[in-house]
Amino acid sequence: MKRMKRLIPCFALVLLFGVLFSACSLLPSETPENAKQTTGNGGKTEMTTASTASTTAAHVHEFGEWAETDAATCTAAGTERRVCACGAFEERKVVRLGHTAPGEDGKCTRCLAQIGYSFPMDQVTKLDGTIRTKQNDYYVSTNYYGAAIDLSDLPYDTVRITKRAGAEDMGYAFLTALPVTNGQKPAYTAGYTKVIWDTNETATVGIPTDAKYLYVYYASKGVLSLPSAIMFYNTDVPATFTVASWNIGHFSMGGKKTSTITDDAYATEKAKYLSYINSLGADILCLNEYSELFTPSHPAYELFFGLGTTFEGEQRNYSCNAIYSKFPLKNEAAHNFACNTSDVVLHTTAIQATDYYYVTGELKIGDETVTIVTLHLAFHEKLKPDTVCTNQMDELIAKFADTEHVVLLGDWNAYYAEYYDRFAEAGYTVANDGSYLTCTGSKTSGLEWPVDNIIVKGVTMTDFRAVNTDLSDHVAVVATITLE
Ligand SMILES: [Zn+2]
Ligand SMILES: [Zn+2]
Repeated sequence: MKRMKRLIPCFALVLLFGVLFSACSLLPSETPENAKQTTGNGGKTEMTTASTASTTAAHVHEFGEWAETDAATCTAAGTERRVCACGAFEERKVVRLGHTAPGEDGKCTRCLAQIGYSFPMDQVTKLDGTIRTKQNDYYVSTNYYGAAIDLSDLPYDTVRITKRAGAEDMGYAFLTALPVTNGQKPAYTAGYTKVIWDTNETATVGIPTDAKYLYVYYASKGVLSLPSAIMFYNTDVPATFTVASWNIGHFSMGGKKTSTITDDAYATEKAKYLSYINSLGADILCLNEYSELFTPSHPAYELFFGLGTTFEGEQRNYSCNAIYSKFPLKNEAAHNFACNTSDVVLHTTAIQATDYYYVTGELKIGDETVTIVTLHLAFHEKLKPDTVCTNQMDELIAKFADTEHVVLLGDWNAYYAEYYDRFAEAGYTVANDGSYLTCTGSKTSGLEWPVDNIIVKGVTMTDFRAVNTDLSDHVAVVATITLE
């Protein structure tokens, strides 16, 4: 088994250095004005502030716990402070919280600002005629109904749909840029649809900028049963959020493109997957080796219902990337690697470099944009250097050279951890320097390779961790991201 050297992650070293520097900053040889900005825990900005004129030469500050001095609010940053017995203290900024999602009254549940618009259900236009099956086919049924909401006068980026109490069976919703007409098959565009399933009480989805209609099905045994509430609002993305990346291994330990979970095991297996996913606490969940089917007759979107804005890329051999975000992502798109325009066979099988691609989406935080990139890079363990994998890495560095805030996450297939060094050299923070083995290699049953990683630029990354599971041949990696 290949052992990776275990190092303290880079950002942990930055943290450690920051605290030590603070401790030294008030030695008599230094001026009290000596202030140093460092990277703080929880993504907060630390600012060492001198407050005492005299200390003994041997004194090293011992700061207590951080305590709030000005509380952060939905709209304004706060501060917190920790104090040494000598009276010296450090202060750091606490990023603004952003409004919560609205309650049923459309108000932020923290500051009670009116941020949501409850769409009057009696104005929902009812259409009859079509229903979508689990296999994404449509058929006409006189027993089912749909409803459409014209979005043209609704300047919101998010919609939350609440199931009617006691409603059973199926419910769907999706957003479309095309008109919906009575009795006709509604327009559905792959990669664009936001599907609602009926197993959760609510679902929240981001509205693409070009969406024209929200189309809702909610019917049970021929009885029209619309949602109980449809709330539109603009999501105020907080400056601190959690991202996770997981190669979900096609729901079959990475072995096949389609699921080996049987329909009979659906409920049990679904509960396992959801329990693990929920344990990650992610606001944005990126998946590699996503498959459209969870079981032969249950589409994977049932599993991920309610996780928010969805982008599912196309299935290419082993590669299929998806993003689920609790916040609206703008301009979601899939990208081919320009360095792999010719087909490079990676294994003795027909897996080609062109199978691999990446997906981007933009997160608007105030006036800033953070680009989220989920990627799956090519793999050729026998080649060192793996010129396909490293060329793709170099292409990503070039692609985002002028992008200020970037979060790159996914399965990098970096069989050798030093492949990541190029990102550190390009000014990125690399969470997994080889210390976290995240994939069971083909040779042993244990975790062998540090292939799953989160690499960022222009944001602060804290609390990186790998979360064990036996549901895939990969474990998920998680980190907290803060836009200072
Ligand atoms: Zn002190
Ligand atoms: Zn608020």
